[in-house]
Amino acid sequence: MRVRAGILVAVLLLSGLGAPVAAQQPDIIQEHWYHSYLTLTNDVQSWAGDYPEIVLLTTAGTTVHGRQQWVVQISNWANDTKPDGSPKEKVYIDGGHHGNEHLGTELAFLTAEFYIEGWIDGDAEAIEVLQNTELHVMILLNADGNDADSRWNMNQVDLNRNYDHHWTTEETASGDGPFSEPETRNNADYMAQWVTDADLYVTMHTGTWILAYPWGFTGEMPPDWELFEHIRDTIHETIDADLPVRNANAGIYPTHGTSRDYGYGIMGYPTFTFETDDEQWMPGTVESLSSRLSVELEVMRYLISNIWYWRARLNVTQMEVTPGKEVVLHVVNNGHATTENASIQYVFEDSMEVLWQSENFSVNASNETHVTLDARNLSLQPGGTFALHYMKRVIDSAQWVHEPIDAQFVEVVEEQEEGWLPYPSAALSIVCMIVGAIYSKSRRNAPLSVEKERN
Ligand SMILES: [Zn+2]
Repeated sequence: MRVRAGILVAVLLLSGLGAPVAAQQPDIIQEHWYHSYLTLTNDVQSWAGDYPEIVLLTTAGTTVHGRQQWVVQISNWANDTKPDGSPKEKVYIDGGHHGNEHLGTELAFLTAEFYIEGWIDGDAEAIEVLQNTELHVMILLNADGNDADSRWNMNQVDLNRNYDHHWTTEETASGDGPFSEPETRNNADYMAQWVTDADLYVTMHTGTWILAYPWGFTGEMPPDWELFEHIRDTIHETIDADLPVRNANAGIYPTHGTSRDYGYGIMGYPTFTFETDDEQWMPGTVESLSSRLSVELEVMRYLISNIWYWRARLNVTQMEVTPGKEVVLHVVNNGHATTENASIQYVFEDSMEVLWQSENFSVNASNETHVTLDARNLSLQPGGTFALHYMKRVIDSAQWVHEPIDAQFVEVVEEQEEGWLPYPSAALSIVCMIVGAIYSKSRRNAPLSVEKERN
């Protein structure tokens, strides 16, 4: 939707609220007037000052002209973990790579505000998310460009072509080299320092209305296409059938050196570029932001509430171990991403030294499977325990996870040669052994039965 600046200014004047504000913007301004660096700084500092139990404010660094790249970290900071003791999920969001794409920046702000105000109002969804999740939101990456209403940073570089992922001089204004600009370097450093294990990264822009997943640099589908297509289908079925959800190369146009491709290709996150509808060069909007961005916010809430599913989540439900022979397991993947490099490890619980590792197996997204693994080199020892070792997603850069297997699902089938036969009687056992030996001799040329008869 397009509006004329004259109407907008009139609306804002009628609201009687043209003056700069000292604290967090009243809703009437926030709803219609895009943030400047000054008003954003006021707002995020107010959040951190007023609600320290859920908002921490930090900076990823400074822009070319020395403005802070604020990051609001939102969670229930009274607890380091989820209520069940497991690590919190991590979400990373940034806005404002392009200084003139104000609606994208405002979507990052609205998303942060939704959870902060929801928590204060006692909203069940916000409370649950903040108990289980850390949201890291860099609302305005390119504050210099924002204040100048410019796409570029102050070195006239397009920051969303400056990331160290298939960087090329073929792109317009991609900089002197990958990460030549402080704004992009700081963003990458923040990812590496604070949110290496994030399971969602959304970078917000305006342009053509789209939620775009990797890749931009190639028309090939990303290795985790199943995850992205699941998300696409669910958004279409439950939120808005018209929102385009596509890979960026086809849905927008080919691009190199973007933060989206970097986030997926180098950090291994499931990543999206969220482009709100196309409007630039305006200081604000007549239609309220929360109304204009309502579908976008609903999609963000869906992506954040369901973050637990945006990776492989293996769960062994049954495991039969025959040391020196095989491991048979039934494994369920509760996540919506496939994993291709899963294995079972046998480790010392104390030192985590790996004593044995199975060959690799795959488990498809939202699926389950039976696997029989060669365990000829496995022998059990005191203090040993089984664990799953696998990648969260298919992409090479995806994080590895190491998760203990609940002992109640592990059944050890002892090979009889290792022990003794306690019943029904020693005499009967001896008879059995003699019979077994004769049988074995007679079948010694049948390779498939040898292992069994050795027992
Ligand atoms: Zn943009």
